[in-house]
Amino acid sequence: MVRKVLVTGGAGYIGSHTLVALQEAGFEAVVIDSLCNSSEIALQRVQRITGKPVRFYPGDIRDRRLLDQILTENKIHSVIHFAGLKAVGESSQKPIDYYQSNVAGSLVLLEAMQEAGVKRLVFSSSATVYGSEAPVPYVETLQTGNTSNPYGTSKWMVEQILQDAAAANQELSVALLRYFNPVGAHPSGLIGEDPQGIPNNLLPYIAQVAVGKRKELSIFGDDYPTSDGTCLRDYLHVMDLAIGHVRALEWIEDKVGTEAFNLGTGRGISVLEIVRAFEQASGVPIPYTVAPRRAGDLPAFWADASKAKSELGWVADLGLEQMMVDTWRWQRENPQGYNATHSES
Ligand code: NAD
Ligand code: UDP
Repeated sequence: MVRKVLVTGGAGYIGSHTLVALQEAGFEAVVIDSLCNSSEIALQRVQRITGKPVRFYPGDIRDRRLLDQILTENKIHSVIHFAGLKAVGESSQKPIDYYQSNVAGSLVLLEAMQEAGVKRLVFSSSATVYGSEAPVPYVETLQTGNTSNPYGTSKWMVEQILQDAAAANQELSVALLRYFNPVGAHPSGLIGEDPQGIPNNLLPYIAQVAVGKRKELSIFGDDYPTSDGTCLRDYLHVMDLAIGHVRALEWIEDKVGTEAFNLGTGRGISVLEIVRAFEQASGVPIPYTVAPRRAGDLPAFWADASKAKSELGWVADLGLEQMMVDTWRWQRENPQGYNATHSES
């Protein structure tokens, strides 16, 4: 029997790529998304890639009645929970919005799942839950917390809630996926990351410089204690990350309790290395200036991803060059993101 998966936030960057991986693995996907940070065109593009329909419910995860309807009328087997707000800087300006959407939203989802008897959940967590003092590489057994912004705290809080919920309900099975830095796009060039306004993240910013939308990149600090003075992060291809969700779904199938997994490559790459790799992949020079450090940035972190390998059978296969080539294809072919077209079929 085909298993139906509810994907909250499925129109977003990671969600849309995960829909492709899910459908290719034989799952049927149902999406709820408020489109507050995404476009329905992403879902139309997913259908073009896979040739399979995605059932879409526009709406907010805090709408309990809608969730009840979706879970029951589709006989949902498991849930992948991406929906939430994700801009670190904005979370300090609008903490209540972040706790509302990310924490209260997750609670409504959990209540609805409980009522409908849905027992399996994959949650989008983040490397940010390790906080500012954790030694690298980050390993899942480290203590979490000590987060430095409401976004990170909201992820940490949902992890705690899920652990408590699974401890109380012996049937619940939860995978907490702690993502490192997802980049890249589907190789078709049809779906990719489409930030609204000025991008906060490095790769979307570089890609917009390359396509002429921004004048130059600001590198936030070159005086960190790293080999070239710029920060190190663990960048992984979004299609690898998408497949990680399929592996996690398969893993939780016959487990109970909560388990955390780092999804990263295990390798730290500097901002300057990213700039060079992008230039090489695209053939486009990226002008940059060195700007002051960005508040809250950590000098260097990367994953110990060995647990995902041994337990889930997952490794990040795609290398830096592929990440850059695919980012560039998406940006070049969609310079205005999904906005250029209003509807497609
Ligand atoms: P995204 O903004 O592209 O996707 C999130 C989706 O959720 C969007 O389509 C948005 O419209 C929707 N949404 C937001 N609030 C909603 C609500 N209350 N109800 C219904 N839909 C809602 O972000 P993304 O990069 O795809 O991230 C997906 C998840 O992964 C998020 O939870 C994010 O915090 C987490 N994460 C992302 C990264 C990253 O670097 N992109 C890293 C670690 C964790
Ligand atoms: N960065 C940068 N210029 C930018 C955006 C990001 O130099 O315009 C740097 C940032 O300081 C960090 C790295 O790129 O060292 C990755 O930043 P991003 O926001 O993409 O990810 P995160 O900080 O969440 O790891």
